[in-house]
Parts: sequence; structure tokens; C-alpha cells
Amino acid sequence: MKALLRPIATLLFGASVALLAVIALPMVPMTGADPSVEVVTLPAAADDELAALDAAAVADLDPLAQPDDGSVPAEPPPPEDEPPVEWIEHTIAPGEALGRILPRWGIPPQEVWEAARPHVDLNKVQAGKVLRLHRGADGTTVDRLEYALSLDRTLVVEPDAQGVWRATVDVVEYERREGLRSFTVNRSLWEAAVQAGLRPADIVALADVFRYDIDFNTEVRQGARAELVVEELYVDGELRRLGAPLAVRFHNNGKQYVAIRFEGADGEARYYDASGHSRKRPFLRSPLKFSRVTSGFSRNRFHPVLKQGRPHYGVDFGAPEGTPIYAVGDGVVSWAGPNGGHGRFVKLDHAGPYDSSYSHMSRVSVKKGQKVRQGQLIGYVGSTGLSTGPHLHYQFWVDGRYVNPLTVELPKGGEPVPDTLAPAFAAHREMMLARLDGGEVQPAQNSTAVADLAE
Ligand SMILES: [Zn+2]
Repeated sequence: MKALLRPIATLLFGASVALLAVIALPMVPMTGADPSVEVVTLPAAADDELAALDAAAVADLDPLAQPDDGSVPAEPPPPEDEPPVEWIEHTIAPGEALGRILPRWGIPPQEVWEAARPHVDLNKVQAGKVLRLHRGADGTTVDRLEYALSLDRTLVVEPDAQGVWRATVDVVEYERREGLRSFTVNRSLWEAAVQAGLRPADIVALADVFRYDIDFNTEVRQGARAELVVEELYVDGELRRLGAPLAVRFHNNGKQYVAIRFEGADGEARYYDASGHSRKRPFLRSPLKFSRVTSGFSRNRFHPVLKQGRPHYGVDFGAPEGTPIYAVGDGVVSWAGPNGGHGRFVKLDHAGPYDSSYSHMSRVSVKKGQKVRQGQLIGYVGSTGLSTGPHLHYQFWVDGRYVNPLTVELPKGGEPVPDTLAPAFAAHREMMLARLDGGEVQPAQNSTAVADLAE
């Protein structure tokens, strides 16, 4: 099974490590320091992260992986019909700051930075991203600067009639349609999903829909099958990318999972199973987003460091140093810090009879006594204590007894659809299940169905 899923883990780790490297780079100009340029650290916006994942992933794909019907381009097509020659595209180099780039084209960096500040701090431009500069009529000065803030939002800075630089944000207006995608896992989940037209970000979204039920790294079996009704996002009649999964049916290891996206009275969309219970559960299946099991739970195994038979009351996830570790459930931190052979260690006391713990961390991000929420970052993978290399040793307890976290029956407790919305949910579910069965998918107007039914 490892071979099946390893490409995803490797790819995503590669991408996030590359991203971290980008973030760590100094953003100050090397010479001629501009007073407007401060030393800053770069927070990774979720969209940026996904965009970076995409870029890295697409670069790694072999030609086989491209969808052959051309339905979903791996990269969004260029925004203009033909990039006119008046546009200069400048790829930001590592360590390069606006204070060095803009003066080359006669643009005042301080003014542009101040104009853009309500939307973004341009001192934090990311290496590898592209600045688009539009050459003015005189052919030498630049009269417009564009910088992508996310997949759908672009910062535009241009001088007004008085020559004062002003910033606005262009938001892509999509026409939303519905489409069907399906795939069967043969060699790898990754390959099958990409061939069905999913991008890395879509695979992450799919894994997220089922993160309370299935660990996509360790539990997907050969022959697993996914069927999805997805939003297709069009611009000028051209498919740009996929949006959220609207309904998913996933067959794996003899079980079938259904997830229906449904908007509640509060306007927030959540995923429900076919019986109308929220897919959100008290515990995540895994504390790492992408990883692989390198050593399972065992009451007796040969310990690689101690060189003797010893039970392994946890599961080891192989992951690079620095991989984020997330709390599997709400709880209170009962231990945070060194703990003998466990190295840097965190233990969480969850509601009911449950505890979980995380060993060998490189860094601990929580304090003893602190309350944590499910999915909250609690530390990073490392190799402290009795450890042969970076990995997470993850333990789970019920009533103070070690249990196998990969097989333990976890509490369900998914909130049901509120009574007032139950009929609307039932109608919506039937419609979505029919679509998953290959029913006609009407373009365009269906995308409002979720909201209509929810009211
Ligand atoms: Zn272990």
C-alpha cells in the first residue's frame, strides 16, 4: 500500500518544504537599502500555499498524467488572449525586494507599497511569483503593475490622472457549472485522480472531505473508486479550474462513503453523510496531513534503537523534519516538553476516556494547560529522544490503555442537519445521488440549487 500513496506524500512534502525555504529567505535588498523595505517574515496564505503546491506538482507530472481530453488545464491559461508585447513579466528571484525591482522601470517603490498596503504588504513578495508590468505609451515608463494575491485575486497598482499610484484588487468572476469526475485507483491514487482531471489542490480537498473517516495515506486500497460532482469554474466559456466537491461517493476496502455539501441556515457549507449527519467527527484519522506509516502498532516488536524485543504502543508516521503536526481532537495539553526517550513530547487530554500523544518533535508549539482545538498546530516532526530519524510516534489511549490509533473505533457524534432543513437536505441529497449515478447534469443554473434549497 505504501507504493500506492507515496507519490502524494512525497510530492506534497516536497512542495511544502520548498515553500518553507521561500518563506525563510531574507526579503531585504542586498544593496542600496530602501527605507521603505523592512525585514519581514512571510506568512503563507492558504491560497498561496495551494498555488505553490500546484506549481510544484504540475512541474513534476509526467505527460501521462495530463488529462487527455483537455477538459481541465493543469495550469490556468494566460489571462489575455495573447500576452501583448507591452507586458513585462518579471519573476521574483529569491531575496529580491520591490525596492530593487521597481526603480529599474522608474516606479517609486515607497508609493506603490503604501498604495497596496490595505490589500497586501508588498515587502513580502514571494520568490517565484510573477510581477506583470505594463509599459506606458511612451515605451519607457510603466503605467500598471499586477501581482497575483491568490488564484482568483490580482492586485493592480496604477497611477491616477494626477500621477498618484492607486491600488485595487481584481477578482475573477466565475461562471459556475457542475461536472462529474470519477476514477478508480489502480497503481496510485495520485495518478488516477490527475488523469480524471483533478489538480493537487483538488486531491487535497477530496482527502479533506473524508479526513474524519479515511487516512488517504494509509487506508486507500487498490480498486478504490471515487465519484464526484464538482463545481467547474469558467471564465469566458473556458474551464479554468475546479471548485469545491458538491457530492462525493468513495468506495474503499468494501465500504462506501457519501459526502454531500449542504449549506446551513448560517450560510456555511458543510459535508454530510447520506443520513444527514455531519462528516465532522470528534477526531481526525491522522495528526499529519500527508505521511506514510513506517511502523505499526504492535504489542511486541524489535526496537531499532534498543535492539531488543519491545512492544510498540503507537504508530510511526514517516515525514520530513518540520512537517506540521495537528491536534486530532479538541482537548487540553497535559504534557508539553521533554519526556525521556519520547524527546519533545505533547500529550492531549480529550473529552471522555481519550488521550493522544505525539513524540520526537523538533519543536513544540503549545504549553501545558492550554486548550487546543481539533486541527490546531501543536508542533513539528523531528527526531528528538530515542529515534533513528525524523518521524512522528503517535499514541492513542482509551481509559488510560494504549490502543491502535489506526483501527480504534472512534466516536461518531456528527451533528445532524437541523430539523427545519431536513426536507431540503433530503431533496438535495436525492438530486446529488442521482447525479453521482450518472444522471443528467444541467449546466450553469444548478450551482444555485444548494442555496435555494437551504433557505
Ligand atoms: Zn514509534
